[in-house]
Order: sequence, then structure tokens, then C-alpha cells
Amino acid sequence: MEQRLLYYSTNLKAEAVSFSQALLKGQAPDRGLYMPQSIPGISPDEIHHYSGLSYPGIAFDVIRRFLKGEIADGELKELVTDAYDFPVPLEKVYDRKYIMRLDQGPTASFKDFAARMMGRLMQYYLKKNGQKLLILTATSGDTGSAVANAFYGLDSIQVVVLYPGSEVTDRQRKQMTTLGKNVHVLALDAKFDDCQALVKQAFSDPDLDHLSLSSANSINIGRLIPQIVYYFYAFSRLRMDNHPEQIIFSVPSGNFGDMMGGIFAMKMGLPVKKFIIATNENDEFPKYLETGKYEKIEPSRNCISSAMNVGHPSNLARLVALYGGMMDEKGIIHRAADMDLMRKEIFSVSISDQQTRETIRNMFRDNHLILEPHGAAGWAGMLEYFTLYPKDYQPEQLCVSLETAHPAKFPEEIKKTIGLDPELPESLEGLDGKPEFVTAMPVDYLEFKKFLLSSF
Ligand SMILES: *Cc1c(COP(=O)(O)O)cnc(C)c1O
Repeated sequence: MEQRLLYYSTNLKAEAVSFSQALLKGQAPDRGLYMPQSIPGISPDEIHHYSGLSYPGIAFDVIRRFLKGEIADGELKELVTDAYDFPVPLEKVYDRKYIMRLDQGPTASFKDFAARMMGRLMQYYLKKNGQKLLILTATSGDTGSAVANAFYGLDSIQVVVLYPGSEVTDRQRKQMTTLGKNVHVLALDAKFDDCQALVKQAFSDPDLDHLSLSSANSINIGRLIPQIVYYFYAFSRLRMDNHPEQIIFSVPSGNFGDMMGGIFAMKMGLPVKKFIIATNENDEFPKYLETGKYEKIEPSRNCISSAMNVGHPSNLARLVALYGGMMDEKGIIHRAADMDLMRKEIFSVSISDQQTRETIRNMFRDNHLILEPHGAAGWAGMLEYFTLYPKDYQPEQLCVSLETAHPAKFPEEIKKTIGLDPELPESLEGLDGKPEFVTAMPVDYLEFKKFLLSSF
């Protein structure tokens, strides 16, 4: 077997571990996030070769490089083939400007890409070691259902999902609460950040050690690695033959897991000209990129792109680490990142709710495409970028904006904006009549701990 790639903690106070340990732990014991000690490279020739591979074929080749020596090729191939059995459409808007629809998985958001792979990898290692796991996950809407769906019915894994009671749509809620079995759903009268804080506190509580807690939030490196793949996939389908070129991506972002996948792809060798990071009115990142000073937003602002209502992106410490800096879990910067390089590679802009609605309206009117609020923020971010860099608006420049959820997950907002009820994908049908299983929980760590100790 090849030499293993080890994973270090961004807080630099914990031991480096193997991929499987990082995957099963989630967060490092020093509260940092796991990062690979080096980033595997992919040569231009190998990238060209991707044009002849299927999505699972590319996924296998990318993911394998991070799991060196920890899983046999044949077994990994089976896992990716099983995880990625749905299409990844690239829809042309005009010229070489595209929308990549990451909404065709079983819970109709891009979170399926990560959750399905992570679930399969966890199951693989747990079975091998005869272990059990209790997954705690906070969700702003889509993680909960993707994770619950990916782990549903597995006997070695129990799942607890915490969500902000009044900040998810009915459909998003029902995707989690109608499952039952090993999926336990807690509704909190709180913000996403409060849910996340309870989960983080549980991870560092020694009284809960015996429960083998793990995280399925985007702090888990096992979620991040699968999100590298679709950036390579988009380029493999859209690049011109025998013509060197660079691609521009626009990523609607909240906790920055999606965007980190893209940055990893670029650092591995994908020819990216620019990443456009669109946030909603939670603009802590665009401000940080501009000034070099970071201030989280507490409490986070409520926007219609609710899955991006994040006042302190949990993956930011990873981004800072990749650019040579060090940020702790509280968002305090101990060593500055290379901001000049970051600004060269990343453009970031905050998109208001009003702009988001206008974008949904214009996209429908001009291009007959339906975007939901997150994907619309991504597209709006790209348009903002073009006003500053008009050269990249030219027809030959390849640009891809990510649509991160299916419009039918946000029917209220779509109806209000364009007067249309988006057609339900098969995966979302039949939720309405089903019974829901959900427990109300106060924002109180001791109550949460009591629940965990008495239930598991
Ligand atoms: C989670 C989510 C996002 C934000 O992704 P991050 O990885 O947290 O930045 C954007 N859109 C949708 C629909 C989501 O569910």
C-alpha cells in the first residue's frame, strides 16, 4: 500500500491522524478542523483524461488520492458507484455561462454529494472495526435531511439532528422528521449558530466520551473531499478540446464547505481563473477579504437563502490555513493569511434578498430557468463580478454558477417571486401525508446533554 496521507488540526494542538480517524472523529480534540498535510496534485494530462470518465469515475480518481492506503481501490469504486447514481446537469444559460444543478440527489440539495459518500465511508470503517457511532449534526435546513437520508436505517449509526425551528421550510422539515428509526430530530427555538454551538460543546464534553460522538457537519473532512469532485466534473464536460483555458466558478456560500471543495480542486491543479464567493446579507467574509480583519456576525441575519444564514462559517479556519494563516474555532486570527493571494484567487460579494429575488425573476423572464434563492445568490454574485471585470463576461470565457438546491424545496419564495409552483422532483413527493417525529428542545446545553445521556 502507498504511504498514508495524514490529517493535522488547524488549531495545531492535536496529533495528526489517518483519514479514517479524522472521518470518524469529525472535529479534532483541540477543537480544530482536520486538514490533509499535503494536497495531492493532478496533472493537466490526468485532468484531460477526465473528459472520458463518468461522474463516479472522476469521483473515484479524486477521492482515492486523499485515502491513500486506507481503502482498496475495488471497494472505493463500489462505494462511489453506489453513492453517485443520479445526474449532474450542466445547463447553458447563454454563451459559455452555465448553471451546474447539484439538486438531483435523493434530498434535492448539493449536500447529498457529501453526505452519501461520507455515510458510505463511515459505514465501511465502522463495520471493519466493529464500532458504533452517534452522529450529532446541526442543520440550517439541507444538511439534516441529506445526512438523515444517507444514514437512515443503518444499525451501527444513530443520528441526532438539531435545527432552528422557525428557519427551515415545511418541506425541508418534513424531509427530516418523517424518517424515524435511527434518526432523532430536535427543533430548537434558536438560530443555526446556536444549534451548532450546542453540538460543538457536546464534542468537547468528556462526560459524553462513551457515546462515540461524531459530526456530520461540514467540519468533517469526509464531507469536504467529495465536494471537490464536481468542480473537476464541470470542467471535464465543458472545456474546449486542445485549448488551454481557465474556468470561473460562482459558489453561493454559508459554512464554506462547498467553496472549500472548489479551492481544494484548484490547489490540486484544476485551472481556475477565479472563485466567486457569494454570501447573503451575512457579509463577514466579503468584509474580511477586503480588509483582512475578521468579525463574525452574531446573531446571524435572516435571509431567504436560509441555508446560508451563517454568521461565522465553520470552514473559514481551513481556508485561512490553506493561505498560510491560523484562525481558531472562535474566529480569532493568530497568524494572518496571505490576503494578496486570496484576493487574487477569490472574489467575494454579499447579495441582498432584494437582489436575490430580482435574479430569480430575471432568470425566469429572460432565460426560462428557475433558480431557488441560494442558486440565485450565486448567479447574482457572478453578475456583480462581471460589472467589475467586464472582460470575463465575453462569450468565450467559461463560467459555471452552482445551483445548490431544487427550487421545489422553496416553493413559498418561488411562488411569491414568479407566481409559479415548481414541479416536485420524485424524491420530494409523498412527504405531506406522513407522520412526523420531532422533539422540542430549549437552547440549553444541560437539557441537551440530559437528552443524549438518557436516549443513548
Ligand atoms: C448548505 C447550503 C449552502 C451553503 O453551503 P456551504 O457549504 O455551507 O457554504 C448553499 N445552498 C444550499 C441550498 C445549501 O443547502
